Amino acid sequence: MQDVQWIVVHCTSTKVSRKVTVKDIDRWHRAKGWAQCGYHWVIYQDGSIHPGRPEQYAGAHVANYNRHAIGVCYVGGVDENGRYADTRTPEQKASLWYLLKELKQTYPKARIMGHRDFPKVAKECPCFDAQTEYADLNK
Ligand SMILES: [Zn+2]
Repeated sequence: MQDVQWIVVHCTSTKVSRKVTVKDIDRWHRAKGWAQCGYHWVIYQDGSIHPGRPEQYAGAHVANYNRHAIGVCYVGGVDENGRYADTRTPEQKASLWYLLKELKQTYPKARIMGHRDFPKVAKECPCFDAQTEYADLNK
């Protein structure tokens, strides 16, 4: 992938207690006809960071922008009552910050945004205001 312009934050839109793995996402995304897991990085509830699709390949996570966008996804985004919520654990928050900082070093021109910040996205994903939270990294 060339000319990365966005680093896009996502959630899996699954219940906070559900242990979703890259393997699960890979299966879901292949079922949609995609090559493999559409995100480049996935962060589990324990804060561990897992590679999805290699960064040299365009992802499949934000319609019309995939060719220039890195996708980062945390597991969760839905509370126990089935409502969209910022369910990030302290470990996930720390790992997101760390990973996004690293990615900004690799792609200094890229802007960190939440999935829902893109035009015509009728989703809550990633269930928090990424541009406000990462304003310092976007400077
Ligand atoms: Zn998303």
